[in-house]
Amino acid sequence: MDTPEKPVVESLIPGPYHGVHVAPLQKGHEKIRWLPPAQRSDRVRVRRHTCECKATIYELCHSGGLMFIRRTVRGPDGAHVHESDRLVTARMEVLWLRLLLGEAR
Ligand SMILES: [Zn+2]
Repeated sequence: MDTPEKPVVESLIPGPYHGVHVAPLQKGHEKIRWLPPAQRSDRVRVRRHTCECKATIYELCHSGGLMFIRRTVRGPDGAHVHESDRLVTARMEVLWLRLLLGEAR
């Protein structure tokens, strides 16, 4: 049986590649309540995240039917992790968008 040879594609991502960067903070932005990470056993799936070239990385996470944003601030003394409140998907997707637009932080 003939198997057509497939061309080897090493990477479709052009380098240097950047992910999403959050926009500069807007006036009168919404303040997200940042909490210490919840000690839960639920599996966390990262749906989206901002670019890793920045010291602060935001991840849109899904866990136990709810969503939250995880913020990791990488400093000289290590990474500091905080999490937002957990919300239903529709509400959290709005907050995630506002975060990217600089309307919430
Ligand atoms: Zn970047």
